[in-house]
Amino acid sequence: MYILLMGPPGAGKGTQAEKLVAEFQIPHISTGDMFRAAVKNGTELGKEAKKYMDAGGLVPDAVTIGIVRERLAQADCSKGFILDGFPRTEEQAVALDGILQDLDIKLTGVVNIGVPDSELVSRVTGRRICKVCGATYHIVYNPSKVEGICDKCGGVLYQRDDDKEETVKKRLEAYHDQTAPLIDYYKKQGVFIDIAGMQDINKVYSDLLAAIKK
Ligand SMILES: [Zn+2]
Repeated sequence: MYILLMGPPGAGKGTQAEKLVAEFQIPHISTGDMFRAAVKNGTELGKEAKKYMDAGGLVPDAVTIGIVRERLAQADCSKGFILDGFPRTEEQAVALDGILQDLDIKLTGVVNIGVPDSELVSRVTGRRICKVCGATYHIVYNPSKVEGICDKCGGVLYQRDDDKEETVKKRLEAYHDQTAPLIDYYKKQGVFIDIAGMQDINKVYSDLLAAIKK
């Protein structure tokens, strides 16, 4: 089962990936983790990527693609993987097709968990985090017993800068600009699967499984 997972920030990709990992025993490969591992293991490409990261710049496509190639060629990916956060551009998608062809892998599906922007904004902006223990709450979906105070430790709850409305809207805009061409790309290949993310977590997962098995 070879899956690409797409979806805007706050759509619940992480939760769905966890469920797939538990059920199918395949690795969840996020680009962030992959970069950190390559740097930590000191591979040639990891060293190269580190140079750019240390300088605060973007890692060039050639390096990123090389790191993806190395990761997908590892033994634990032989039965499947969930790739998350890559590709981000059509050029990267073309490169990924080349890698998969070399590894004799065919994508099972490109899963997009769709949630309307207005819903995402309210999900993300309602998030509150405990300054002391890091517990997370939501002012609507999972409120603390006393407003602004952590149930577990009595610490003060705050909103991360990343979760403020203006920032969230900017992130969503960037996300849509980036992914619209990718959606077209995978629709043309006939592997694109749109899943409605505005449902119970378990229903999202059962829809996802049903779509993949088709
Ligand atoms: Zn706390």
